[in-house]
Amino acid sequence: MLNKLQGEIKKLMPEMIESISEMIKIPSVEDPKTQSPEKPQGEGCYRALMKMEEISRELGFSFKNVGNVAGHAEWGSGDEIVAVLGHLDVVPAGTGWDDDPFSGKVEDGYIWGRGALDDKGPTIACLYAQKALMNLGFKPKKRIRTIVGTAEETNWKCMTAYFNSEEIPTYGFTPDGQFPIIQSEKGILHLEIHGPLTDKFRAFAGERANVVPNRAFAKVPAGLKVEAPLEEVKEADLAEPEALLGPSPEGNFKFVWAKGLEAHGSTPQLGHNAIIDLFIGLDKMGVQHPMVQFFAKVGHSPDGAALDIDFEHEIAGKLSMNPGVLRVTQDQCKVTIDIRYPYGVTIEEIVERVKRHLVPGLEVKPLSVGGDTTKAPLLVESDHPLIQNLQKAYEEVTGEEAKLLAIGGGTYAKAIPNTVAFGPEFPGEPMLAHKANERLSLESLEKMTLIYAYAIYLLSK
Ligand SMILES: [Zn+2]
Repeated sequence: MLNKLQGEIKKLMPEMIESISEMIKIPSVEDPKTQSPEKPQGEGCYRALMKMEEISRELGFSFKNVGNVAGHAEWGSGDEIVAVLGHLDVVPAGTGWDDDPFSGKVEDGYIWGRGALDDKGPTIACLYAQKALMNLGFKPKKRIRTIVGTAEETNWKCMTAYFNSEEIPTYGFTPDGQFPIIQSEKGILHLEIHGPLTDKFRAFAGERANVVPNRAFAKVPAGLKVEAPLEEVKEADLAEPEALLGPSPEGNFKFVWAKGLEAHGSTPQLGHNAIIDLFIGLDKMGVQHPMVQFFAKVGHSPDGAALDIDFEHEIAGKLSMNPGVLRVTQDQCKVTIDIRYPYGVTIEEIVERVKRHLVPGLEVKPLSVGGDTTKAPLLVESDHPLIQNLQKAYEEVTGEEAKLLAIGGGTYAKAIPNTVAFGPEFPGEPMLAHKANERLSLESLEKMTLIYAYAIYLLSK
């Protein structure tokens, strides 16, 4: 089968490249300006979904549009459903491109443009992978659905809408991560710690909870002696306008800051959190406030040990914790913490333990609650037939070991139970998703299409 598939995919390459290129030319960025009940994600996303329907039908699949935000191409028969889950929306082009980000040009062995890798190229590759099987006369014993959404990069409402009316597949994969196989993803929880409003100090750090802040600053009474790790800083040297802190309290104030090291919020141990240093310094300087007292006591604790939430799972790994956003202004006093928790732990357990450590005056509020399955931890056991078949497909095509990966983040796989991320980035390839000059190598495209075809064959024969 593998040899026959290889030959068939070679034949299909020119047509597949053309389809990917046409899809890239549609700038399917979520667009509030063109949103309407008929086009819930705006004009570009709507057009991309229509294009997907056109390509699917031309290749011989049936297609179902679900509310103009999602849909699926289908073939095969049987009670069970194997799902391939991809998305047709893209993040904005951003800057730094050498050419038009939506050119879809084929040059130097690559297809160029936003979405080439994330996720239009791989999604269409999966469709042609099935076309190759179809051309070889293969009759799947399961229904195979290529499910596409148009809100993956934003709010995932495409999946909410889709599963309101459609069956949950038996199992599947999403070509929206990396090879070999992401077997485990941690759950994502944002906790807000709220404290009483104060005029004793102002503080600011971070824009997003999932980034380890590399700078945190505060405005404190001028009479206090500055203590390490804080340094005094002139107002003129602060990039953040004072406007961020709102109107100042009465009296004489000076600015202090703490410097850290930026890292992704899912790997806080690789950075150094400036918010924590800020609170440690403020505590030493004698600034009295429950928020200061609490975080100075917690200190640097990227695995959550200081809050007794250092849960660990043998496959999924350790919990991670990152206080990423700090705001103490005239009308708010809060810190937002990004927590990545391993399979087997509940949000309620985490919140309960954090509560036990809070100092009087503080409150904790989970921002994503238990019912939000798209943020829940994911784990498919190593001996599950899904994992076994994906491993076999990857190993037979590449000749390399299909290692099982565990990550802290969230891929589209979280949208469906028993689904894992499988490709499209090969080990050692540069990470180009969401970056300038995003491109898909034709060599990788042919290889991944063969892996996908063989995997779908193994999962549905
Ligand atoms: Zn993606």
